[in-house]
Amino acid sequence: MTLTYKDRSLANMNQLADHTKAAALKWVNFLEKNNMDILIYETIRTEAQQREDIQKGVSQTMKSYHLVGQALDFVPIQNGKADWNGYDHPDVQKAVAEAKNLGFEWGGDWSHFVDKGHLQYVYKGYGTDTFGQQVTTPTQPQNTGIDIKQGSRGKDVERVQRAVGATPDGIFGPTTEAKVKAYQKHHGLTPDGIVGPKTWTVMF
Ligand SMILES: [Zn+2]
Repeated sequence: MTLTYKDRSLANMNQLADHTKAAALKWVNFLEKNNMDILIYETIRTEAQQREDIQKGVSQTMKSYHLVGQALDFVPIQNGKADWNGYDHPDVQKAVAEAKNLGFEWGGDWSHFVDKGHLQYVYKGYGTDTFGQQVTTPTQPQNTGIDIKQGSRGKDVERVQRAVGATPDGIFGPTTEAKVKAYQKHHGLTPDGIVGPKTWTVMF
């Protein structure tokens, strides 16, 4: 299914920095494949707009990732209309999980200022993404065939942590294990807390 507001979403996405845009395009492909509908209604913001948003109370920092083209704001679309209360819908949560797989940080995970329509692409840090460069879209992580479980460390652990909503610190501890078990239960997998090939395939 094509996004209802695809042209508008794409026009906004075109203003993003290169790697952020590539990841966002990949996300939109996933949404369309899975019949999920959203509108990307804002991406890059000027300093003046940001100052205004702070005054309105909808933003809190002058170091917003929007200023550097590394953030986007989206709203779920229900029956052709923006559904501002729709962020907790299971489909939207699936969309958010995929965005996290692609490397986005979700504003809904923030504890200080929850912002469920906000996704930012950290890349190599604030203001590090490029403009006007050719980039290859991020590839799906390949499973190395080694189980990821308590005690594991590294990039794959970070990916798993993002997918299950744990803090992506790259260290597979008891909290990550509990979240993996919950994820497995939810997806009809054996909840053993070990990310083997089966769980990996469902996750990615
Ligand atoms: Zn935002």
